Amino acid sequence: MDRYLGKKYPETMEDLPIAAIVPWPGSTEEVDVSSWRTFRPVINQEKCIRCRLCWVYCPDSAILELDKEYTNKQGKKFRITFEVDYQHCKGCGICAFECPVNAIEMVPEER
Ligand code: SF4
Ligand code: SF4
Repeated sequence: MDRYLGKKYPETMEDLPIAAIVPWPGSTEEVDVSSWRTFRPVINQEKCIRCRLCWVYCPDSAILELDKEYTNKQGKKFRITFEVDYQHCKGCGICAFECPVNAIEMVPEER
């Protein structure tokens, strides 16, 4: 385990620690799972009613609640904006499933 201290998170499978070990506090913050996805969630800010359900249900805390104002085409002003943290999103689609107004679309990843 000491070999991981002070180092960047392992990049290859062979370098990974055995089982569900967190090498150091906060290490998962450094993991980039973007290559795991086949689909990515895209939030339609016009449709989003800022209910926060996607933020609640995301198993990877990959929905960000930002202090960023947004005014929609009808002139309704929101104080917050929800965006996806694509470094930590695995593309599971739970957010899109839970969104009550279908504001999240899962679109195919293009590499
Ligand atoms: S697709 Fe899954 S991991 Fe990505 S933001 Fe939505 S719920 Fe979170
Ligand atoms: S669940 Fe849908 S409507 Fe609610 S905050 Fe997320 S994207 Fe917006």
